Amino acid sequence: MGRRKLVVGNWKMNGMREHLGEVEAIGRVAAAHPSVEVGLCLPATLIMAGSERRGAAFIGAQNCHMDISGAYTGSLSAEMLAEAGATWVITGHSERREARGETNADIAAKSAAAHQAGLNVILCVGETLAVRDAGRAEQVVADQLLASLPEGAAADWLAVAYEPIWAIGTGRIPTMEAVAAMHAALRAALASRIGAEADRMRILYGGSMNGDNAADLLAIADVDGGLVGGASLSAKKFAPIIEAAD
Ligand code: PEP
Repeated sequence: MGRRKLVVGNWKMNGMREHLGEVEAIGRVAAAHPSVEVGLCLPATLIMAGSERRGAAFIGAQNCHMDISGAYTGSLSAEMLAEAGATWVITGHSERREARGETNADIAAKSAAAHQAGLNVILCVGETLAVRDAGRAEQVVADQLLASLPEGAAADWLAVAYEPIWAIGTGRIPTMEAVAAMHAALRAALASRIGAEADRMRILYGGSMNGDNAADLLAIADVDGGLVGGASLSAKKFAPIIEAAD
């Protein structure tokens, strides 16, 4: 299918200037694995400095506002993030869907705004444990994806990240069969909306990915990379995941 693997770290609310050495080291690992697209979504305060030390990795943001400018105290527009040096942005992370009440419509609007500003997008979707236990995960997540997908979504600027909420930061991951079934279901859902473009769109797995499980997860046919939280905070922990994607 020719989809280049995409491995992205999400530093969440972690990282000070003293940690820029890790950005630099991860940039060097990225340079050693040119077949893999590697990036770090940094806290906004580090985007500018991180961009100067990113090596072969790209720098992304973790959220953006859906409007270009306005009276939104504390918010950042996609245009501002792009000017600071970001080339990607995460939208729809469950930590924002849940804690900030972001809706599917908000996420579609933020993703469209990001594209308008020239940013690439990682659009996150995922189910709660209750939904998984009820046997409804694939249907619920596919519906969530279609409701969050912006108009004109295309593989050259948007990737999807499947992140089961109960796997984020917990050390637990779904079975490989469950991941394979979910990614296949998401690709089929994408095909129903964007046709053949679905075959080109990357679908990442996220949730407790680490150096021990990455090779198995990344070997699944429809898994085109990873969105990595905790294990992306140091080059030592992130490098084995990048290597596994190569
Ligand atoms: C995330 O929050 O996007 C994530 C995948 O976190 P972790 O890898 O720490 O589970």
